[in-house]
Amino acid sequence: MIKWSFSGLKDFINCPRQYHEVKVLRNFIKAPTEQMLYGTAVHAALEDYVRDGTSLAKNYERFKPMLDVLVGLPGTRYTEHKMALTGDRAECGFDAEDYWVRGIADLLIIDDHKAIIIDYKTGSARYPDLRQMKLMALMVFAYFPEVTSIRAGLVFVMHGTIVSENYNRDMVESMWDVFLPTLTRLEAAHESGAWSPNPTPLCGWCPVDTCEYRERKRRY
Ligand code: SF4
Repeated sequence: MIKWSFSGLKDFINCPRQYHEVKVLRNFIKAPTEQMLYGTAVHAALEDYVRDGTSLAKNYERFKPMLDVLVGLPGTRYTEHKMALTGDRAECGFDAEDYWVRGIADLLIIDDHKAIIIDYKTGSARYPDLRQMKLMALMVFAYFPEVTSIRAGLVFVMHGTIVSENYNRDMVESMWDVFLPTLTRLEAAHESGAWSPNPTPLCGWCPVDTCEYRERKRRY
């Protein structure tokens, strides 16, 4: 059984070879970019504010009105909520040996049979990818049997916009179908050992310095 997460699956889609070298063999480390470090700092500040009311640093104060809307929503709040499922899609401990998939919801609010899931984004709002929210929603349905409907949204904090979707419990099977074709490809790559490169203009920044495409891009 292949263990996976949404970010890992995305890395595999972007380049199976890089995924294999970085995530499976751990031959190379992806150094965090400046944007990633900024994103981590913002996430920590927003989490502290929503969980404990910790004051925001001056440069983050502009996020307060948006956060106050979230804090004012009814229900039980969970911040940085870790969830994991086994292969039969049952909840398990985040660090359980037999976990199959796992993820962390930035903010989860449970209000009786309804839930809200929020993921903070510090990057561009141009190409929102809601598959991550589908996976989070699938985990929430597994963890909270009383929940029948979920609104899940990517909050682009730099732009003050939200992109959201609504899910009902009767959509669960079709929501899993979104991931199964890629998971089948991932399993096939593990079985065959064929990890194809997927060269793009970003190869020059790839940590896999043994890949011929990285060198080729560097020369231009
Ligand atoms: S250099 Fe490009 S093709 Fe090669 S592993 Fe990295 S991302 Fe993939």
